[in-house]
Amino acid sequence: MGVRRRSGGFVLKVNPILCDGFGHCHELAPELVQVDEWGYPIIRSEPTALSDLASYESARYAVRGCPRQALRIERISDDARSARR
Ligand code: SF4
Repeated sequence: MGVRRRSGGFVLKVNPILCDGFGHCHELAPELVQVDEWGYPIIRSEPTALSDLASYESARYAVRGCPRQALRIERISDDARSARR
């Protein structure tokens, strides 16, 4: 049994049709989600490394805590991350 390395990254995605704009996700994952002047989320488009466990946990809290189920986590492979740079 060895240590599994977490490679790749993730981004949070919001469905703007479902989002109610109360900004609860910002409270749950402030390092990943900012809000605009109306309370709608502005989410970092730059992938966050999966090895950043604190941010990944925050993203999972935000997804679980979204009252409209408007958020999801999209995994990004290392290859796709490299291509984005
Ligand atoms: S918690 Fe969900 S519904 Fe509320 S602002 Fe964030 S994405 Fe939109």
